[in-house]
Amino acid sequence: MTSLKEMDHTYIASTYGRYDLEITSGKGSICFDENGKRYIDLASGIAVNSFGYCDEVWKEAVKKQLDTFQHTSNLYYTKPCVELAKALCERTDMKKVFFCNSGAEANECAIKAARKYAMKTKGKEYYTIITLKDSFHGRTLTTLSATGQDMFHELFQPLTPGFVYADAHDIKDVERLVKENQCAAIMVEMIQGEGGVNALDREFVKGIEKIAKENDLLIIDDEVQCGNGRSGALYAYMKYDVVPDIMTTAKGIGGGLPIGVTMLGEKVKDIFEPGDNGSTFGANPVVCAGALTILNRMDEAFLQEVEEKSAYIFDTLTNTKGVRCVTGMGLMIGIEPENKDANDVVKGCMEKGVLVITAHGNKVRLLPALNIPFDVLKEAVEILKGELEK
Ligand SMILES: *Cc1c(COP(=O)(O)O)cnc(C)c1O
Repeated sequence: MTSLKEMDHTYIASTYGRYDLEITSGKGSICFDENGKRYIDLASGIAVNSFGYCDEVWKEAVKKQLDTFQHTSNLYYTKPCVELAKALCERTDMKKVFFCNSGAEANECAIKAARKYAMKTKGKEYYTIITLKDSFHGRTLTTLSATGQDMFHELFQPLTPGFVYADAHDIKDVERLVKENQCAAIMVEMIQGEGGVNALDREFVKGIEKIAKENDLLIIDDEVQCGNGRSGALYAYMKYDVVPDIMTTAKGIGGGLPIGVTMLGEKVKDIFEPGDNGSTFGANPVVCAGALTILNRMDEAFLQEVEEKSAYIFDTLTNTKGVRCVTGMGLMIGIEPENKDANDVVKGCMEKGVLVITAHGNKVRLLPALNIPFDVLKEAVEILKGELEK
């Protein structure tokens, strides 16, 4: 009989380099492979399973909505999406929401909003968007264009025009690009994820705020990965004391089902008219009903626990033998090994029953479920520490 792994190689497009591991079930922060081996999952499906596998509260809301109706179209009013949008606006500084199905799609909508706003207020030649080097904004052609990493660009020319890239941390470089181009917006991840788990400096973000104000540019904040409690604040921008004009999120807000969210601030809340954007599956009632249970449980006490778990990881791994540095914020953490390949650390951990992933720049990346119990976290971090010290 052909093995699952062989069939995968035969029938699934080769876009992913998978680890030699089949996940067959999970509960909370624990999952199992086909042989029944137990793993502590510190990656949560790349920051998606915010409350771990098969969370009871989320599951109940999803099942209830499944029994009510699973989908209609955006031609009609439905309750779950309105309730989720209201909760999102009440918990942030944003005013209106567009729902879609992924981070890339949420960023596409943000870019459309920024371009339309700039065209209406300044003229159609003001379409350029400044993004940062080492950023990641998605896999569609336009969000690839927005992504400031050359390696993603080479094979897919021509990309969407209108993106220029500034050095993260170099505010002078942002100023130069604003002078050299007719710009609509500056787009950043407050904590760069794929690019190496690096939180932007507060000073740099404040500098962007100033430049945006002086030059009438919108700030687009991509919180697809760092949003939804991951940073220790509900949204990472709240830690920087800067209010973006547009914020996007996806991954963790759905608790495991696909959703993308573009949130529009005061300036752009009414930029779209019927026909300007749309998504067949966007605002799916099952997904929205589940997402609401995720958002509603992220209160102050919950976020405080995220901070405590974060502090524990930073304290345990900073200055540990074999660790060059620990970066990131909240439960979005990057660890650069001193003399080892991050991939070898990932594989060593996997053998010992702990799942971690990598990020650009030889980083081991941790994105545990936000509700991971302390004792489970400790068990996993001790194993990771052992692998790093080896
Ligand atoms: C994952 C990610 C995206 C893309 O999200 P998809 O849902 O995979 O399209 C965009 N921006 C950031 C910051 C991400 O981490």
